[in-house]
Amino acid sequence: MPDTPPATLAAAATPLTIRMHADDNVAIVANDGGLPAGTALPGGLVLRDKVPQGHKVALVDLARGAPVLRYGVPIGHALDAIAAGSWVHERLLQMPEARGLENLPMATARPQPQPALEGYTFEGYRNADGSVGTRNILAITQTVQCVAGVTSFAVQRIKAELLPRYPNVDDVVALEHGYGCGVAIDAPDAVIPIRTLRHISQNPNFGGEVMVVSLGCEKLQPERLFPPNAIPIQDTRGAGEERLDTVCLQDDAHVGFMSMVDSILRQAEVHLERLNARRRETVPASELVVGVQCGGSDAFSGVTANPAVGFCTDLLVRAGASVMFSETTEVRDGIAQLTARATTPEVAQAMVREMAWYDAYLQRGSVDRSANTTPGNKKGGLSNIVEKAMGSIVKSGSAPISNVLAPGEKLQAKGLTYAATPASDFICGTLQLAAGMNLHVFTTGRGTPYGLAAVPVIKVATRSDLARRWHDLMDINAGTIADGQARIEDVGWELFRFMLDVASGRKKTWAEQWKLHNALVLFNPAPVT
Ligand code: CA
Repeated sequence: MPDTPPATLAAAATPLTIRMHADDNVAIVANDGGLPAGTALPGGLVLRDKVPQGHKVALVDLARGAPVLRYGVPIGHALDAIAAGSWVHERLLQMPEARGLENLPMATARPQPQPALEGYTFEGYRNADGSVGTRNILAITQTVQCVAGVTSFAVQRIKAELLPRYPNVDDVVALEHGYGCGVAIDAPDAVIPIRTLRHISQNPNFGGEVMVVSLGCEKLQPERLFPPNAIPIQDTRGAGEERLDTVCLQDDAHVGFMSMVDSILRQAEVHLERLNARRRETVPASELVVGVQCGGSDAFSGVTANPAVGFCTDLLVRAGASVMFSETTEVRDGIAQLTARATTPEVAQAMVREMAWYDAYLQRGSVDRSANTTPGNKKGGLSNIVEKAMGSIVKSGSAPISNVLAPGEKLQAKGLTYAATPASDFICGTLQLAAGMNLHVFTTGRGTPYGLAAVPVIKVATRSDLARRWHDLMDINAGTIADGQARIEDVGWELFRFMLDVASGRKKTWAEQWKLHNALVLFNPAPVT
């Protein structure tokens, strides 16, 4: 919502500021490169300081202690008097205390029901359990980091020697992670990394084909990772011998490294055969399971990309799909709006439970939510976690929140879900994979080349400058909103349509094209021995 009418924005020299809410007493500077001191804004206000792009300017004189309002909420209090036209940076602000988790509005908001969005489909891989994949990938689960080198060697050979014979299979992915031994595996919190790994193996993009490489002596034994009935056991060895398909490196039968590699190749071929027989079919858009998150945020994240994603989130919910938003420390300061948006008091209570658990987790490490913001966030204009959170939360759109997931749990519901995860890009992505996402949307302002091997990652740039410079890394440019060339809903629809194309395999994301794959990072709050 630029203050300046779009028609005047074409001229790059026109000073442009963006205010998010009518109550705000600051606005951010939108112009590339910021604005010099002495610039007269369209309303007549003259800048007293040079204000960098994405940073805040005081619209009125602010007394010492006065609340600084952005998104209509106090993101801090002035540590000293701030004159109108001044640059309002983080050193001038006292961050507000986190809101307590008592006396929250529980399921009090009654959002207007939005009309169902019908007729949108994509081409996906239907699985036996009813879920739908957007890619057709062989995943090789590892019980312990010790086997990673051997598995990686085997995967190189599978790709070179076997994959060309199975043209319907998109890729082979080793699920490498740092877990296994060294972890106090019986600690209550160890349930999180274990169920995360189990559920990632069941991601819809892996077609229900579970293959495990184990060392043999590790704490996380294959039977502990996959207890009876955790997965449908398939006949991978013929003659009706149904068991979890595990290659154990310490097995007596293995003599020499190549014998281990040959075993992995032999078993992989059984799964490749079955995966190769799968075909895409037309399925409703309601089969999308979308995880949204942000990384490398700036002040535009909450102005352009995240509101466009929020609009798209609403479209997905209207289409009957599943959408997850996460990143606990980045929504913690908006807890009151989230509990109010819950469909039932029970859902609101589950949100409070997850936030309280996370508060305690941070407290154990003697930090709080303010440990979240990075130097890049601040350079990009985000003064503190409150300002960052208000911009982050808009990714969740306006739909009622109907479901809550604890870290590592598997999503079973349609609609909008709060999936509690750390904000760390890799841990959040890993936990959303475990929840069963088949498409990932990632917004960035500072710029990050993030990607995952298991699922397409659509990256949305918050600024046109980033989209121009990183033209072969960013899939969608939401900077056009700040430029006044597009509305939030235009970019939201563009993203929605692009999602259906990517989900169908008709289009690839840049991260897929370049094969940019970040590591899986398991969230392990349990002690390490
Ligand atoms: Ca993140």
